Amino acid sequence: MLRAENVTKHYGRYVALDNVSLDVHEGEVVAIIGPSGSGKSTLIRCMHQLESLEGGAIYLDDELLGFRRHKNQLLALNAKAVARQRRELGMVFQQFVLFPHMTVAENIMEGPTRVLGDSVADARKLAEHLLERVGLSHRIDAYPPQLSGGQQQRVAIARALAMRPKVLLFDEPTSALDPELVGEVLKVVTDLAKAGKTMVVVTHEIGFAREAADRVIFMENGRVVEQGDARSTLADPKTDRLRTFLSRVM
Ligand code: ATP
Ligand code: MG
Repeated sequence: MLRAENVTKHYGRYVALDNVSLDVHEGEVVAIIGPSGSGKSTLIRCMHQLESLEGGAIYLDDELLGFRRHKNQLLALNAKAVARQRRELGMVFQQFVLFPHMTVAENIMEGPTRVLGDSVADARKLAEHLLERVGLSHRIDAYPPQLSGGQQQRVAIARALAMRPKVLLFDEPTSALDPELVGEVLKVVTDLAKAGKTMVVVTHEIGFAREAADRVIFMENGRVVEQGDARSTLADPKTDRLRTFLSRVM
C-alpha cells in the first residue's frame, strides 16, 4: 500500500537515508526503531513529502508521490496535487500540534470542513465519534491548553483520523510525554492497530512495538539493518547490532 523504493536522502554531504526500501501492506502496522540519528524521522518525513529525495521513489497504492511520468521524464507535481496526495497520509508528531485558541471539537472539525468539504453537522458528528474512540468525549469543548499532554496527543490522533487517511504515520508520539501519560496514548495506537489501520510508527517503546506491530524495522546509519515479524525479531534478533541496541534500550 505504501512503498518506499531505494530511497536516498542527503543533507548536504551527509547521507541520512541510504537506499531504504520498505513496503507497508494494507492493515499492517510497522514499527521503526533504531538509535538517534539513524534516519527514522527522515524516512517518514520523506513518506509525507516533507523532504525531497536524492534517489528512489515512494508510492501510495501504486501512485508515485510527488511526481508524474511524462514520456520518459518525471515531472514534479504542483502544490495542489501534492497536497491532495499528502492528505492520504495522516501524520502525528512528537509535539502535539493543536490550535490553542480552538476547542477540541473545532480542532478536529477544521480539516474535514475546510479541506474535505464536510458540513459542520457531519464534522461535529465525526469529532464526537473519534473522541469516543480516543476516550475523550467529556473534553469535546475544552481548549488544548486545559488538557494534559497525553490528552492533547489523543486529540491530535483524532484530528489526523478525521481526514480519513489511508495510512497513519507516527513519529515518536509518546516521547514528549511524562512517563505516566505514555500508556494512554499507546493504548489508543494499539486499539487502532487492532481495528486494522495501516500505520507506520517510529517508537522507542520496544514493548509497544512487540505488542502492537506486525513488523519491526531496525535502522542504523540511514539503512535498514534488520526487519521481520515484530515478536520474533525483538525476541531473537539476527544481527549483533539489533541485539546490542535492544540490550541498551530495554
Ligand atoms: P531521533 O531518534 O533522534 O529522532 P532519527 O532516527 O529520527 O533520530 P533523523 O532525524 O531522521 O534521525 O536524522 C538522521 C540524520 O540526519 C541525523 O544525523 C540528523 O542530524 C540529520 N538531519 C536530520 N534533519 C536534518 C536537516 N534538516 N539538516 C541537516 N541534517 C539533518
Ligand atoms: Mg526522529
